[in-house]
Amino acid sequence: MVVILHRNATEAQIENVIKHLEGYGFQTHKSIGVERIIIGAIGVKPNFDTRNISILDGVDEVYRVTTPFKLAGRNFQETNTVVKIKDVEIGGNHVVMMSGPCSVESEDQIFHLAKIVAESGAKILRAGAFKPRTSPYSFQGLGEEGLKLLRAAADQYNLLVITEVMQNEQIDLISRYTDIFQVGARNMQNFSLLKELGKISKPILIKRGIAATIEEWLMSAEYILAGGNKDVILCERGIRTFENYTRNTFDLSAIPVVHKKSHLPIIADPSHATGIRDQVPPMARAAVAAGADGLMIEIHHDPESALSDGPQALLPSTYLKLMDELRLIAKAIGRTL
Ligand code: PEP
Ligand code: MN
Repeated sequence: MVVILHRNATEAQIENVIKHLEGYGFQTHKSIGVERIIIGAIGVKPNFDTRNISILDGVDEVYRVTTPFKLAGRNFQETNTVVKIKDVEIGGNHVVMMSGPCSVESEDQIFHLAKIVAESGAKILRAGAFKPRTSPYSFQGLGEEGLKLLRAAADQYNLLVITEVMQNEQIDLISRYTDIFQVGARNMQNFSLLKELGKISKPILIKRGIAATIEEWLMSAEYILAGGNKDVILCERGIRTFENYTRNTFDLSAIPVVHKKSHLPIIADPSHATGIRDQVPPMARAAVAAGADGLMIEIHHDPESALSDGPQALLPSTYLKLMDELRLIAKAIGRTL
């Protein structure tokens, strides 16, 4: 940690800062520059609250030089984590598609869409059976019936399943049907859920919270890793900003930032990020170009009658065309899709 003091900090203030730092267990090193006095605080304390120092008299700024996340960080593991499920690898050279409707709605619907997903070359079928809806009056998902239909449709077309878990009590049930657990944006900081998911042996995809910084998101991943589950996948799905021409603001820059700071795979979800069908293909193409390890895309053959997120669902024809475009982009950057 680096502590920068005011230009005219008094000797007593400097001594007080040093006394506090040493009290917290840091070794200190003072350097007096032409313009500033800098105290280097040496010691690894990932959960030290820097405000303890920044509020002291005479202090201008405090900077961390280490990250508060440890297991999720590149410093901890230099090579990329590759999450393997049967013959699918997430975080390797292949860009992995997770496609399907927002929700499982009926047997006809999920089988119809699973067929399209398989024909597109995607390996993972996405759909929710437990839905986190902003309104309690909106469709809440089919529950276990939805999980059964989702598993059956995926098995029929040799696909893996990803579906959302919203609370601890659902883990055992969902575990019987899914290959990957999805933690939704609204649950990114449901720490009790994250702790439970740290104890299981299936991969967890954790979406970025609606107003979460990348550091907070990586700290949530850290909860799962700290519990012993190493198979964590991050998913950028847009954050809340003042912009309202899009449902959320797609933070594409999170992709290279995460790749630099963490060894975990990161995929992108342009469907929830933009919320409008027309905006999904351009942002999907951009995400692959930016280095996403995979994409989550919502599709529907009859979006007007969809029970959730119809306006952002791609029609099968648009989705299949997009897949061809994405393959070209992946190839241009030396990847496959
Ligand atoms: C979803 O994937 O359908 C979903 C609810 O996503 P998010 O948590 O990103 O809103
Ligand atoms: Mn959705």
